Amino acid sequence: MDNIASIDILPKLDSIQRVIGKHTGNKPGPNLIFFGGIHGNELAGILALKEVIHDLNNLKPDFKGNIYALAGNLKAIETGKRFIGKDLNRIWFPNTLIPKEERSTIPEYKEKIDILNHLIEILNNRRPTYLIDLHTTSSHSTPFISISDTLKNRKIINNIPAHLVLGLEELLDGPMFSFFSELGLPAILFEAGQHDAISSYENHIAFIWMILAQLKCLQKRKIPRYRNCVETLRKSSPGGNKSFEIKFRHLIGEQEHFRMKDGFVNFQKIEKGETIAYNKDGKIKSRRKGYIFMPLYQSQGCDGFFLVKEIKPFWFKLSSRTRKWKMDKLIALFPGVHKTKNGTNAYLIDKNAVRNKIISLLHLLGFRKVYDNGQSLKMSRRPYDTRFPKTEKVLENIRKYLDLLTS
Ligand SMILES: [Zn+2]
Repeated sequence: MDNIASIDILPKLDSIQRVIGKHTGNKPGPNLIFFGGIHGNELAGILALKEVIHDLNNLKPDFKGNIYALAGNLKAIETGKRFIGKDLNRIWFPNTLIPKEERSTIPEYKEKIDILNHLIEILNNRRPTYLIDLHTTSSHSTPFISISDTLKNRKIINNIPAHLVLGLEELLDGPMFSFFSELGLPAILFEAGQHDAISSYENHIAFIWMILAQLKCLQKRKIPRYRNCVETLRKSSPGGNKSFEIKFRHLIGEQEHFRMKDGFVNFQKIEKGETIAYNKDGKIKSRRKGYIFMPLYQSQGCDGFFLVKEIKPFWFKLSSRTRKWKMDKLIALFPGVHKTKNGTNAYLIDKNAVRNKIISLLHLLGFRKVYDNGQSLKMSRRPYDTRFPKTEKVLENIRKYLDLLTS
């Protein structure tokens, strides 16, 4: 990990606008909306988007659809901080909205409204639309993808050589990509590596080209050095690609004085009882074995670290099949599991009576946790699992949400 070249060697960004760049294809196809800099200290994605769009505008290949590259937290990008008032990647779901009285003082409120208005403008062409959110991490990391686990989202990332992490969407303050997935847009998150490493910029470029090929905007042979793109990502994940699910999150409490133990890299193997971090009470030890995920090595942020567990490929195959068979009706036969009154798409689970295996089974069947009070939890089926709605419906969902934000 020594002597890693930095993105400082790249040309500096001038003042940054919401639209970083745009490429309009010569044939009809989908809208691909890429975000860079949702966190203001993550410039690698923005630089990579500029580079790919510059190449496309020069090469003018046959291209189906349109690419829009949007910058995320403009105010935070200007100052090089993750965020100014609130983390722009944690204020999308209804329980985390910026309260009315804070709207004038938290700049992320205006950023959000502006982003939504840009999306509406793009979606007005009524084309199918995909959202791709580019990030980097504070620790050194092999690249990874995260999605809300719908079959449709899985299909987009099928052939991309990077780790997959599931379960970010279940955090109460869920990330932006999972919010848009719930509104009806296929959405994926890509984390390319450490914030300043040049390899993160290269991984982003490789990933963007591969997504363009995957969504059939562009033929592989028209992509400059396509094989290199595949190789770049492959080389970044020595030991091959795995899938993981989040099993534990250390949320940093107020006045906790959290400090990560030095030297962890993302996806490093952890034993039960191993010291992972420190706080005012002393050592924080791992309560389970697994892999460390997103260890926090920067001052801003409230997630200290996560622990993840590997999901074997067999379970993935099984879960695609079982979702199609709609097997979840059988789940209600287990003691401690009850259908909610308003339909079959959600279950209330008594945590004292139900083993973790049932919860894992519900995950496989396409359900995600929406509520957990320690005693019981509610799991409901993800909307739009196998099929995404028409763009009109997504537009209607975004407009309704905007009304909620501005009323
Ligand atoms: Zn980020």
